[in-house]
Amino acid sequence: MEIVLFWFVCAVAAGVVAASKGRSGLGWFFLSLLLFGILGLLIVGLMPSLKKPEPARADVDTRERVPCPSCRELIVKGAEVCRFCGAAQQVADVAAPKAAAGRVTCVNCGRNYPAGQKVCGCGMTLR
Ligand SMILES: [Zn+2]
Ligand SMILES: [Zn+2]
Repeated sequence: MEIVLFWFVCAVAAGVVAASKGRSGLGWFFLSLLLFGILGLLIVGLMPSLKKPEPARADVDTRERVPCPSCRELIVKGAEVCRFCGAAQQVADVAAPKAAAGRVTCVNCGRNYPAGQKVCGCGMTLR
């Protein structure tokens, strides 16, 4: 009786392992039950997984990277500290483009003024 139970447990385990590898759990359960027993479990255990590498890694890779001003290594945008050299990062520059939207820049000298400003200190008309 024990051998039958053992056979069944192996088939269940084979099905569970197969399912965890993106294969047909039920199919491998019956295949192991009818044909292989412990062998089925071994075969399933040795089979390469059909699943793609962890999605967590892909998630990390899609994040925007910016070079560290200190060591030039690419770090995640918005990170407070560089993970390579430990230098503190200016998180504020993420918000900078928004603040610059309502401003005008002198095409002559490059100075920056609030949008209402009409004439630059250098005499250039601001647009
Ligand atoms: Zn750095
Ligand atoms: Zn100017």
